[in-house]
Amino acid sequence: MFLKKIFLTTACLLPIHLAFAQLPQDSRRAGGIAIIPLTASTTQVYYEQKPVLLSEENGQRYAIFGIPLSAPVGTLTLNTNNTPIQIEVKPYKYPEQRLTIKNQDHVNPNPSQLERYAREAKEQNTVYTSFSNSTWKSFPKFIVPTSGKFSNSFGRKRFFNGEERAPHSGLDIPAPVGQRVVAPADGIVVQTGDYFFNGKTVLIDHGQGLISMFCHLSKIDVEQGQTIRQGEILGLVGKTGRVTGAHLHWGMSLNNARVDPQLFLK
Ligand SMILES: [Zn+2]
Repeated sequence: MFLKKIFLTTACLLPIHLAFAQLPQDSRRAGGIAIIPLTASTTQVYYEQKPVLLSEENGQRYAIFGIPLSAPVGTLTLNTNNTPIQIEVKPYKYPEQRLTIKNQDHVNPNPSQLERYAREAKEQNTVYTSFSNSTWKSFPKFIVPTSGKFSNSFGRKRFFNGEERAPHSGLDIPAPVGQRVVAPADGIVVQTGDYFFNGKTVLIDHGQGLISMFCHLSKIDVEQGQTIRQGEILGLVGKTGRVTGAHLHWGMSLNNARVDPQLFLK
């Protein structure tokens, strides 16, 4: 709300709004993002003892906080080096989605598959909870990683073959197998793998706990540890892992909260 107001009130006066155009959209709901202007004396912000991303736009510093999908409606507190910050998480109803999965193992994995999944989840969690220094000062502007018509699939409450599973933590972009997938912003390829649910996957670290994830790829064209620039190819669209058809699953994680990737696009 705050940002929208600024945007609207300054848009017709000065080109100053261009600086704001790079920040993600403020949306204070579970799976959303809070853009919090900081006073000069606030130099560190923490959520559950972990650092929160800070960015400076036009001389104003902001904390950019990912609200976990599991966050209840109500007040959420961030600690700082001085006064705590409270944000209001607003109610938001994500739609339900019922999917039919042919591979029953992808609905009810057997013990060895569960073990594999646990190992992979741990590996990915290590990436999500990491906090590296960012190479940018102003927040990077993101582009869509692949072209295709997509609907609002983030946050959907999902039922696989009638059984409720975790909500959808990313944005699905339907696209043909073999279509190029590019980095939405500069970063470092921190993980690649072929996972049980996610299929062939690439994770990019954009700095300060901002991680992007690309799943179900048919081909991975990058290696762990390499630097990648915005627009460079990271792989090709596929249908590996738990899918009903070819698409790119694009996830964004901020302070280990999976947030709506659409909030990074204008
Ligand atoms: Zn998906």
